[in-house]
Amino acid sequence: MSAPRVAVLAVQGAFAEHEAVLQGLGCETFQLRQRADALKPFDALVLPGGESTVQAKLLHELDMFDPLRRAIEEGMPVLGTCAGLILLAQDVREEGRPSPVRGFGTLPVAVERNAYGRQLGSFQAEGQAHAGLPNREDPVPLRFIRAPRITSAGEGVEVLVSLEGQPVCVRCGDQIGCAHHPELTADARIHERLLELIP
Ligand code: GLN
Repeated sequence: MSAPRVAVLAVQGAFAEHEAVLQGLGCETFQLRQRADALKPFDALVLPGGESTVQAKLLHELDMFDPLRRAIEEGMPVLGTCAGLILLAQDVREEGRPSPVRGFGTLPVAVERNAYGRQLGSFQAEGQAHAGLPNREDPVPLRFIRAPRITSAGEGVEVLVSLEGQPVCVRCGDQIGCAHHPELTADARIHERLLELIP
C-alpha cells in the first residue's frame, strides 16, 4: 500500500507541526491553501490549532469550506485540534452565548471557546487514555493553549482522552476532536488513531 496522503489546512495556525508528526508516521502530507488544493485526492484531513474565527473566515473566503465540509460529511477521516475542534463542533459557545464562528458543525459536541485559556492561560497536564487508544496505562501528555472545553457530547461520541474526568479528546465515527495540541508533544497516539480510520 502506498503512503497515506494527508491534507493539512494551512491558512493559519500550527500546521507545520502536524505535518512533521504525520511524516514521522510515514505519511505524505500537503497543505490546503486554496480551493484547488481541497479538490485534490487525499486520505485524511487535519484541522490545526490557531484562531478559529480567522480560520473559518478564510475557509469561506478561499472557497474551501464547501468541498471540505462535503468530504467530512462523506466520511473523510479528520482530526481537529483546538481551533480545529471548534471548527468541527456542532455547538460553539463563548461565555455561554452562541459563538459567531461559522464552522463545519459536523461533530456532535458542544464546546466553550477559550474556557481553559481565560482561567488558566496555557498549561501542560497529563491525561488519562481510554479504550480507543493503545497503551492505555501510559498517560497522555497534554498541552493547552487558550483551549476550548468540551462541555457536552452527543450519542456515539467516544472519549479517547480525559483530564480530571472531563473529555479532552473525543471520536465520533471518522472525526476526532481534541482540545489540546498532540502535535506539540512526543506522543503520536492520536495521529495514529486518525490513520487507523483510513479504510
Ligand atoms: N482560542 C482559539 C480559538 O478559540 C483556539 C486556540 C488554539 O487553537 N490553540 O479559536
